[in-house]
Amino acid sequence: MGLRWWEWLADWRVLEVLMTEKFDRILNIILCDLVHNWVGAGTYMFPLNVGYIAAYSKQHDQNLNIELFKFPNDVLGRLSTMKPDVVGFSNYIWNANLNIEIARHLKVLHPECIVVFGGPEARYDEEGIREFLAQNPCCDFFVPFQGERPFVNVLKYLRGEISKEDIDGVFHLDRSTSKVLKGKKLDRIPEPDEIDSPYLTRLLDKFFDTNLIPIVETNRGCPFQCTFCAQGLTSYNRVNYFSMERVTAELEYIASRVSKTPLLHFADANFGIVDRDIEIARYCRELKARVGYPTKVSSNMAKNRPPEKMIEIARLLGDTAMVISLQSLDDLVLKNVKRSNIKLSKFVEIIDHVNEDNGISGTEIILGLPGETLASHMLTIRQLFERKVSYIIAYNALILKGTELDEDRRKGKFKLKTKFRLIDSSFGEYDFPFPEAHNVSGVYLNERAVLEFEEGIRETDTLSESEILSCRAIHWLIQFMWNYRFYYDFLRLVSNLGVNPLDFIIGMTKSRDLQEASDTSELFRNFEYESISEWFDTPEELRRHYQQPEQLAGLKHGEFGKLNGKYIFVALTEFKQGFENYVARCITLFPELEVHRPELMAVLEYDAAAILDTSDLIAGREIADVDVSLPYDVLAWKIGAYSEPLEKFKRESSYVFHMEHQDKAVLERLLRQYHHENKNVTLRKMSEYMPIKKLFLTHRLSDQQSADRDQQLISIQAERAGVGQ
Ligand code: SF4
Repeated sequence: MGLRWWEWLADWRVLEVLMTEKFDRILNIILCDLVHNWVGAGTYMFPLNVGYIAAYSKQHDQNLNIELFKFPNDVLGRLSTMKPDVVGFSNYIWNANLNIEIARHLKVLHPECIVVFGGPEARYDEEGIREFLAQNPCCDFFVPFQGERPFVNVLKYLRGEISKEDIDGVFHLDRSTSKVLKGKKLDRIPEPDEIDSPYLTRLLDKFFDTNLIPIVETNRGCPFQCTFCAQGLTSYNRVNYFSMERVTAELEYIASRVSKTPLLHFADANFGIVDRDIEIARYCRELKARVGYPTKVSSNMAKNRPPEKMIEIARLLGDTAMVISLQSLDDLVLKNVKRSNIKLSKFVEIIDHVNEDNGISGTEIILGLPGETLASHMLTIRQLFERKVSYIIAYNALILKGTELDEDRRKGKFKLKTKFRLIDSSFGEYDFPFPEAHNVSGVYLNERAVLEFEEGIRETDTLSESEILSCRAIHWLIQFMWNYRFYYDFLRLVSNLGVNPLDFIIGMTKSRDLQEASDTSELFRNFEYESISEWFDTPEELRRHYQQPEQLAGLKHGEFGKLNGKYIFVALTEFKQGFENYVARCITLFPELEVHRPELMAVLEYDAAAILDTSDLIAGREIADVDVSLPYDVLAWKIGAYSEPLEKFKRESSYVFHMEHQDKAVLERLLRQYHHENKNVTLRKMSEYMPIKKLFLTHRLSDQQSADRDQQLISIQAERAGVGQ
């Protein structure tokens, strides 16, 4: 196909710049790290990535006017009032199609503008880049890997300092020959401090007026090579560190400006990987004590560090989730994906300490990696339950473009079969100025819609699609009953009575007869239906489906979302009593549990009473107290860390569950922040970003009960410290 008119114009415009305005004209630059913001207000991060590009560019060219954008409508609005010379887009799985659509419009609106794409959502081999550039004529230059130096080279080209063939670190397509042209490959910047701080140069200041979460990078790169991860590419293997002075100066600056969020995120691939990170955690703690920020810090934690270091970091960071990803405990799987994990014993040591300190500890696992079987996946989960890992998050394996796993799939290795799924919250309708530009690709039926999708592994040579599917409800119930704590005490008792919680949950998903006989059959049926129907064989099928008016309306109304979160709140708001009845029925599946039915029922009733009725909260009604009387003192058993048989606590016990005013105020603030017409959306978004304990009522004890509990706690603590009687 010949060049489109705006492509000719783009080349002509560059020529004009070269001939006439070469050196010191102010260049207008827009840099985008976009997110869809159609459904709910997600908790997105500051656009630090493009902030670095802006800071580094300004170091090398004084005559730049650079603006950064996070939200699509903001950039669309700005493009209608200004004439940019260069627009850069950072591509990731959640915004790749959105970027393309905006770039298409940009090329109609400002044909002479140069468009640069970078980021991990791409294949980095020459053929992959050729394909991307050929499919997307709106993209002039493609930057694989670290973007700062290549982007400066694009500016040098625009200034006429170098020729198009000499833009090192950058690829482009000669559209007359379809050949990919590229400059020399560039090394990464070895001393990241060489890049000015986007915070300290105030390039990110405007984002303090939003509810975006500040994000800080203390190092770049990852020494591991997991084949499913873009950071696993050899180009990222060396870890380069920002100086301690730089990191602390950024933390101070953020703390002095932030007002809309208590959160901070470290972008490191392995926070805790060096001893220095303990100092950084200590700095955060001191900062919090001094100015009240950050109250909650998140990061990806290091996988292979001595437990005492990670425990110290968890203690210093306080109210944080110490999630150390394991992905699998199966040696063959780990070998196939080139991953080296922390030893299970060390992992458990960390988890235990964090739990003792009332933190949240846990791990992530992935289903569908090469070599995984149904049995090995179940064994991984079973072992995690045996070790009482308090948070077990399971994901479906995804293929990210440009990763080694992507290459494995193309080569037919492991017989990986994939399907496509819409990404939660990553879709939207936008006021594009030129409908004809939107439909250049012919893939959109709707003139305003943009959808993002992910490619998931649905079959391998060791795992069938139906086996993968059978795990979906299991993962959901783990999330619901165990991770989110809604029926955690019940499952702890199940475990104490000799049944692995996984087996109880499998029983719940398999007992069709019991399900059919209960009020929950519709809940399980709908969950299963959506687990199947959310996957499409091709992106085209997916797009066709979701662009139908009724589907788009459903998306807008929040009917699509991560199934686990969605169905947790469907279960709690529409099926709570039926679900609890069903759990009680499933006790019959295990004779060793059936003989302890009175204990199990007492704990189930206790758990049920502690769950906040969110319909009262949403309707703005008073949160009523809940009274329960039980034949066992479940609270005393819990306070003793479940370590003694519940039988020992057999005594009539009454509890009043209630909600403190300050907790209700926090929930009401979150309700406002995540408000959506669909309450399920509000609740699941809230639950993703708040301590889940906020969805529970607490005990109101009589004075005598309080005194008894205090005495009991003192004895337990003394016993643990070895000073008991
Ligand atoms: S998954 Fe984590 S450890 Fe593995 S390469 Fe990616 S960032 Fe590194």
